[in-house]
Amino acid sequence: MSETAYVYRQRVLSEPDWRRFPGWRDVTRQEWLDVQWQRAHCLKNIRQLREVTGDLVDDLFFADLARDQAESATMSMLLPPQMLNTMVPDAPPDSARLRADPVRRYMLPIASDRHPIWPSHPYAMRDSLHEAEMWAAEGLTHRYPTKVLAEVVSTCPQYCGHCTRMDLVGPSTPQVDKYRFALRPGDRLERIVEYLRATPTVRDVVVSGGDVANLPWPRLEDFLSRLLEIEHLRDIRFASKALIGLPQHWLAAGTVAGVARVARVAAERGVSLALHTHANAAAQITPLVAEASRALLGAGLRDVRNQGVLMAGVNDSRDELLDLCFALADGAGVTPYYFYLCDLIPGSEHWRLPLHEAQRLQESIMGYLPGFATPRLVCDVPYAGKHWVHQAASYDRVRGISTWTKSFRGPFDPVAEDPSRQYEYVDPIHTLPAEGQAWWVAQADPRPLPRLNLIGVSSCG
Ligand code: SF4
Repeated sequence: MSETAYVYRQRVLSEPDWRRFPGWRDVTRQEWLDVQWQRAHCLKNIRQLREVTGDLVDDLFFADLARDQAESATMSMLLPPQMLNTMVPDAPPDSARLRADPVRRYMLPIASDRHPIWPSHPYAMRDSLHEAEMWAAEGLTHRYPTKVLAEVVSTCPQYCGHCTRMDLVGPSTPQVDKYRFALRPGDRLERIVEYLRATPTVRDVVVSGGDVANLPWPRLEDFLSRLLEIEHLRDIRFASKALIGLPQHWLAAGTVAGVARVARVAAERGVSLALHTHANAAAQITPLVAEASRALLGAGLRDVRNQGVLMAGVNDSRDELLDLCFALADGAGVTPYYFYLCDLIPGSEHWRLPLHEAQRLQESIMGYLPGFATPRLVCDVPYAGKHWVHQAASYDRVRGISTWTKSFRGPFDPVAEDPSRQYEYVDPIHTLPAEGQAWWVAQADPRPLPRLNLIGVSSCG
């Protein structure tokens, strides 16, 4: 618990001046606001990043980045200019500042960020939430009784280093051969709609990916419209981090008009239509993000909500979380909704926090925000689903093993499953006391100790 009180001050949002990057000195405001310019100037590799940062960033940083991309990265590099511009927002982005920056730490990982002894937990795996095992149709995860997740596209305008869906999102990396959907996109969406039509026990659909901003709007509008024709669907939320990384997409006049058309139909049918986004640091909430969020609310969405991820070095303090929540709520009209513990994917140990730290953070942020905008810190327990961090049934702090029960039976759960079964979640080993670390080292577990070479080990095949 922090000893000093958090002092609330209304945060005035400001767009960092992109001209502090040498490569963008001549970029005009008109260009910056243009979604096509942003997409055309996304940074996909080190050469492009060097051209933008010029002499500000030294060779050591780029060597560190290159080593990560070759040896560890589970996601490709892809940064819209808007996203890079929120790194080191108030100063020249030199090597030292860039290394320390919270947005850089999760959007542009470097080798020296990773934990040197335990880069991965022994239990880490691709598709750590086992979503593909619960596909009712390809890309449609039916994990909970009344709600489903539809992965309508497998790409994003930006790639986050810690992506939970590293198994299938984005291009393959030297370490990860990505799973590819087998069906053609149109056929896949058709099967998803067919399943939903035929399954009246489902009332809630998360339309996700990837990022729906990478689905051409007419196709997304068509898909949403078909969902709205299904009488038993009452909640539809579509997921886009592009609201944060590429707000220009959601500000485009044609897109806003399309959202308004869909929102009108949703309102007529009494369906709650909302957008879920993903910001992890207050610096990412700029005036353009706020403008885009308010444009979507103005177009008739019921809500725009944020689902962040708790990560060491990014947002693991009370003040960083509250700064972000107030920037979202005050500045952008976005409801702080969830912060997830970072999932058990390979290479994530330096980002992951132990459960007790998340519990402490949850307690530390209580009492500052309205109840409806106080985010829940949640642990997505493999096979058991989302739980609030205080819901663990037991917690061995020495070995870092918590157990959780499950209050529902999903359609893919074995019928004979013991309802009192406990499911495990594990803390990062390097955060354990010496006794616990020694226990893990001594385990003759059939699951291999840390390794990142994942080529061809798809869990979805
Ligand atoms: S935007 Fe979402 S789906 Fe895309 S890389 Fe980031 S976390 Fe993964």
